[in-house]
Amino acid sequence: MAAALSDDDIVSTYTEEATDDDGDAGDIINSAKKMRASSLLYEKVKVFSDGKCAEEEAVKYNNFKWTCRKINDTEQGTKKYYKCSFKRGSNCPAKIYLLFHASNFEVTLFQAIIQHDHTTESQQTGIPIEVKNVIIELFQNGYTTQKSILYELDKLKIMQPKASQISSFLVTLRKKLYGPAQISLNYIKNWCIEKSIIPNDPDECFVANYYIKDDDADPLFRLFVTTKNLMKNCLNSNHV
Ligand SMILES: [Zn+2]
Repeated sequence: MAAALSDDDIVSTYTEEATDDDGDAGDIINSAKKMRASSLLYEKVKVFSDGKCAEEEAVKYNNFKWTCRKINDTEQGTKKYYKCSFKRGSNCPAKIYLLFHASNFEVTLFQAIIQHDHTTESQQTGIPIEVKNVIIELFQNGYTTQKSILYELDKLKIMQPKASQISSFLVTLRKKLYGPAQISLNYIKNWCIEKSIIPNDPDECFVANYYIKDDDADPLFRLFVTTKNLMKNCLNSNHV
């Protein structure tokens, strides 16, 4: 299944999750930007003795609003990256991360040496790619409704897109994975023509007859699908 979908653009962006960047959606798309972003220097700001306090402080550090965008396991420990989301729509480059030390219970807050910029409008108005990747993963693990996905994103403390954005992304995703949800009369007609040839196999079905009314106001179709053996049984039956 996965191999058959490898050409799918949604799934191919999903595989990019493995890229070692700092979680900015733009970085994945634009490799030049990625190099610049990954060369960001971070300075140590504060050490916490417990993870819960660290996370509570991180989301409101310096009176800005920070949203977790990526979690990375490293040799030093788990790094939880946050992006400034102080002004919605601006793509502020400011970033911080928490390092949950592997060797002890301390958590260190680091901040990127870069100025906040809340003037530029984000070019990306939809769901960020890394959030899409998480949604795809959730979807494949059985969280297929907008409500369950929002709930899981909340549990993962990942920035939540608008419910309507998730709905429309799910429509696209389903279409990519399973094909269109609706079929046209034209599709049915072609299928009937294709299946009207009586097969040699007595148990293989074929379309014995069909009726399609291609009327916009009142479209209608009827199919009669059978097999050679079923037809033979009919000949010996009193009631059909
Ligand atoms: Zn900012």
